[in-house]
Amino acid sequence: MLDLNHGSGATCDPHDPRRFNIVSDQVNGTIDRMLTARQRAQAPRRYIGASGIGRPCLRQIQYDCMAVPKDEGRDFEPKTLRIFEAGHKGEDIVAAWLKDAGFDLRTHGADGRQYGYAQLDGRFKGHIDGVILSAPISMPTPALWENKVLGSGSWQDTVKKGVTASKPIYAAQMAIYQAYMDLPNPALFTALNRDTWALYAELVPADPVLAQRMSDRAVQIVRACAHQEVLPRATTHRDAKVCAGGHDGDHWHPPCAWQDRCWSRPA
Ligand code: SF4
Repeated sequence: MLDLNHGSGATCDPHDPRRFNIVSDQVNGTIDRMLTARQRAQAPRRYIGASGIGRPCLRQIQYDCMAVPKDEGRDFEPKTLRIFEAGHKGEDIVAAWLKDAGFDLRTHGADGRQYGYAQLDGRFKGHIDGVILSAPISMPTPALWENKVLGSGSWQDTVKKGVTASKPIYAAQMAIYQAYMDLPNPALFTALNRDTWALYAELVPADPVLAQRMSDRAVQIVRACAHQEVLPRATTHRDAKVCAGGHDGDHWHPPCAWQDRCWSRPA
């Protein structure tokens, strides 16, 4: 039987000022191990996703879609996995807000799966957050719905500049969805501030030129993979922000997960 008496070792000493930290560390450590194990158990993705086709480095997209192992120690950290999960939950919350407010928003088909497209024999795929069939505000429908959950600084930059200027990767993703899902009306883009829960919304016109450029990139990457060619780097310096991570002007780049592999090659 578990002895929960004081001094048994199964309880924290109530006079120990570190007791809150001890419990917190134990709980968080357990959650972090669970998140890491769950992430590792997932089958690697072997296609180019619409969410990443607008990234600046073709080689990085190629490594990603070929499921090339990341450099030692460059897997997603638990804190990043938590943010990803918050993004998924935030999307569900915003979808429920929109539906309850009168938007006829469809996020899943009758089979319970998200709507999406697949091109290039399934090597270029994406799943949309939803499609709006009617709205209680003035906007043409049907329209793509795309949601992001952002930290405060990133959210404020999006509000200030608009999504296309602030987040070109999201703009590329939406352009592709609008083209392949045959949704030419302006998309409703929403961004939830995960610190304040404020919601930003913007109508984003379709951009067929951008969609074509992104589609051409996907073809280039798939062809290179088929011929075992490694695509060129986006930069000539390993310490460039696109590789090492950091702010490059207004844009923030996460550190590339394949820096060692990439720069150990001759070109
Ligand atoms: S290290 Fe830099 S150049 Fe190499 S794949 Fe990553 S982003 Fe591209």
